[in-house]
Amino acid sequence: MTSLLNKLLAPHHEYLTLDRDLIVLETSCRAKRFADCPEQLILGNDVRASFPELIGIEDILLDILLGQRTSFELKGIARSRQEESLLHSASLSDRAEEFNAWSDDRRPSNTELSTLNPPLLYFDLYISQYQEDSENRLIILLEDVTETMVLQQILSQRINEANLLLSSLTASKNYINRVVTSMADALLVTTASGVVKTINQSAQQLFGYSQDELIQKPISLILPNQDFLQEINNLAESNSGELLKDREVICQTKTGDKIFVAFSCSVIQTEIDGLQNLVYIGRDISERKRVEAEMLTALERERELRELKSNFISMASHEFRTPLTAIFSSSELLQYYGSNWSEDKKLKYYQRIEGAVKRMAKLLDDVLLYSKVEAGKLEFNPKPIVLEKFCQDLIEEIQLGIDEKPTITFIYSGPCDKVCLDEKLLQHILNNLLTNAIKYSPQDTPICFSCSCENGEIIFEIQDEGIGIPLEDQRRLFESFHRAKNVGSIPGTGLGLAIVQKAVELHGGTVTFTSEVGIGTTFRVALPLN
Ligand code: ATP
Ligand code: MG
Repeated sequence: MTSLLNKLLAPHHEYLTLDRDLIVLETSCRAKRFADCPEQLILGNDVRASFPELIGIEDILLDILLGQRTSFELKGIARSRQEESLLHSASLSDRAEEFNAWSDDRRPSNTELSTLNPPLLYFDLYISQYQEDSENRLIILLEDVTETMVLQQILSQRINEANLLLSSLTASKNYINRVVTSMADALLVTTASGVVKTINQSAQQLFGYSQDELIQKPISLILPNQDFLQEINNLAESNSGELLKDREVICQTKTGDKIFVAFSCSVIQTEIDGLQNLVYIGRDISERKRVEAEMLTALERERELRELKSNFISMASHEFRTPLTAIFSSSELLQYYGSNWSEDKKLKYYQRIEGAVKRMAKLLDDVLLYSKVEAGKLEFNPKPIVLEKFCQDLIEEIQLGIDEKPTITFIYSGPCDKVCLDEKLLQHILNNLLTNAIKYSPQDTPICFSCSCENGEIIFEIQDEGIGIPLEDQRRLFESFHRAKNVGSIPGTGLGLAIVQKAVELHGGTVTFTSEVGIGTTFRVALPLN
């Protein structure tokens, strides 16, 4: 039995054989190391003196001996053994060398290795029955499981550490999620090709999309500015870290509204080597932009008003001074020399005074009318009007006031029945355009005035062969007080066309012109028939 078992058993196994009274019959040579009192483990002694674990299970042992039970085992019995510990350290240092050959992630750490030299010895105990010389006997197999136990401890220690790491990772992930969710700024993470991976609450609110509607969709859905996306792509390819800061871009919400967003953008490395993601942090600046635009408009208006004021002052001082000087000098001459002058000569000076007064009165009328226009108080009262007669009367009236009567050819091609227009406003429109044509043309050049009705519109055209309007002045021609640089000493306030434009607008029509310096000018007014 001894030699056979010794051959069969592995180096970590020992054995004992017992008779039915639990008296030790045989032991393997190193079985003592598992005994609680090694000195008690001697042949002829009760095994319970050296293995107290067997006390209390005598019935089980008897069952095994009688063949009523095949086996019984006790696992993980611990023994404190100083001498065993010494013995053990040798075997464990061999083990440590073995561990060193393991890959990095499996190899026990130095602290763990120190636990491999434990003061405790662990073993499993198997009890079974065998027969010798037709006698039933018990055999106890003892297996040293210290290393297995230690490795199990290391394993559970590592599992604990991994669990701790996992819960701290989960905690920090939750924390980051909470930070991202509670951010007031919109946050979007996309792949390098612009596919949305993450979107926070603020971004959902800002763009009006739910998470599901944006995830896996191209960012161009909300950021249609392809140039901006291309720029980010180029920067991402050449750089790392922050790409752009506070770049103002127009974005589109789900409802199609355009909003201004200031974006900061950076690149982050993903867990996959060489694969980058783009992080967009955006702030809604639509309100700021609106206020800025309002301020700019207010500033522009302020600038216009200042310009208007200074233009008015310079115009008024010039336009009032000239007739006033004429009145003053004429009345002075009449006062001192009038008694010696002929009636004809005196009449000439009275007429000059009258002309100057009329000019001043017209100027005041224009300013008054313009202030009404500016205040939006110009009234619009359309009434049925016989156009042909109206135009002819107007031409007569204009010609009456001019000494050297210009040639105005009036062409009425009609048919303009049932026309409703505001007479006063139409008077302002045509009067100014015709007076301009006369004023800005040499005396003997013809002026053509036509009136026709076509496609639901009344078209007036006033064509002259006068000085024309320089290109650089054409853009600002309808601005109040603006006069072209080629007017020379021809009098005028620069208010006429501004009033014309407003009067035409009130009719719902348009006023346009073509002009060439030295060739002439044609103004075209189109008013809706009804
Ligand atoms: P007023 O207020 O007395 O009419 P104005 O004739 O100078 O003064 P607008 O009628 O508003 O003012 O015309 C603005 C400017 O446009 C003129 O000063 C002139 O430079 C240019 N202009 C208008 N009509 C003609 C035209 N037919 N030919 C050449 N220049 C013209
Ligand atoms: Mg004019």
